[in-house]
Amino acid sequence: MAKKLGLDTVCVHVGEVKDEQFKGAVSPIFMSTSYQFTDVEVRRYPRNYNTPNQESLSKKIAALEHAEAGMIFSSGMAAISTTLLAFLKSGDHMVVQNTLYGGTSNFIREEFPKYGIEFTFTNGYDVKDFEAAIQENTKVVYIETPSNPLLTITDIKAVSALVKSKGLLSIIDNTFASPINQNPIDFGIDIVVHSATKYLGGHSDIMAGAVACSDEHMHAIWKKAANLGGNLSDFTVWMLERSMKTLVLRVKAQNKNAKALAKFLEAHPDVKKVYYPGLKSHPEYKLAKSQMRGFGGMLSFELNNDLDALTFQKELKLIKATMSLAGVESTMLSPYMTSHGSLSQEERDRIGITNGLIRFSLGIESKADLIRDIKQALKTTKKLIKTEA
Ligand code: PLP
Repeated sequence: MAKKLGLDTVCVHVGEVKDEQFKGAVSPIFMSTSYQFTDVEVRRYPRNYNTPNQESLSKKIAALEHAEAGMIFSSGMAAISTTLLAFLKSGDHMVVQNTLYGGTSNFIREEFPKYGIEFTFTNGYDVKDFEAAIQENTKVVYIETPSNPLLTITDIKAVSALVKSKGLLSIIDNTFASPINQNPIDFGIDIVVHSATKYLGGHSDIMAGAVACSDEHMHAIWKKAANLGGNLSDFTVWMLERSMKTLVLRVKAQNKNAKALAKFLEAHPDVKKVYYPGLKSHPEYKLAKSQMRGFGGMLSFELNNDLDALTFQKELKLIKATMSLAGVESTMLSPYMTSHGSLSQEERDRIGITNGLIRFSLGIESKADLIRDIKQALKTTKKLIKTEA
């Protein structure tokens, strides 16, 4: 039934807990951590990821990602680490895309050696780069597209086909796109992970993670998850369900703002470079168009050399210089100090994250107000340079 419903309807209605007792219009919250164990089909316990709210919201995630099963975690990193550890053991090897979220990269570099799991970061994000990194003992290929923070685009179909031809498992971080803009399972990906802290939550007040895949793969993830214990509290599960009802509306508005602001920044004389897959100048524009319904609400840019990125961000009045992304309010940050602060300078240089790079998460405000704010912050930054000189 879910497959036949429109995206907006899925967001609003799939995965509701029916209020059988009072017939209320929205899901009740079941906060119980103790459920009857006799004469029941399911032994419910929050760390078994099967409370009424967890179970119901999982259905919404699965429907949105065109998957058989979904699961909710306490953070994006809980979802990612549990999924990876469910399929990798000592002696196995994983191929990882070079451009990806710093926390994921950090988890792999710091934790995998302790488990005896080998890994190779690719030299690039072309399918040839993935092929070149595959070894005899490779089990998993992990990609992120659009990537954080450089908005590189990986060919999902080509990488999925390569991975399938070798009998391996493909995992994608779909956080930046959200299921509204991109459904990787339709292109052959096995497992989709999300930081639900971002678009799925969308109001900068929920930390959560999500996974979507086949029932078979989910069973393996569920077994690991119950051991590791990274479940989300039922109150926050309920908050996430509530937030996801407006996912389509938010993401469409964010897509629109990002495209408009990317064009504005690209044409601005004080801007050196803009990274946005919806710009025709983006090297993978055509590829992005072929696998995304919308280009997303994230972009990155660099100012001309004499303009300091931190001074500029401090001068913003409406746009917030805060961490994380995808809220209804627009935010900016310097990845070298935040999302990719755990990487060494050498590593950042290798993948192209300069100290001047600014990551811009578009909210749902009026684009004219965002443009006005950027213009005034640039003006003040330039004035400050003149005063110093
Ligand atoms: N994946 C991406 C692309 C992210 O940007 C982030 C966080 O910024 C994560 C995963 C980790 O998610 P969380 O912070 O919810 O653990």
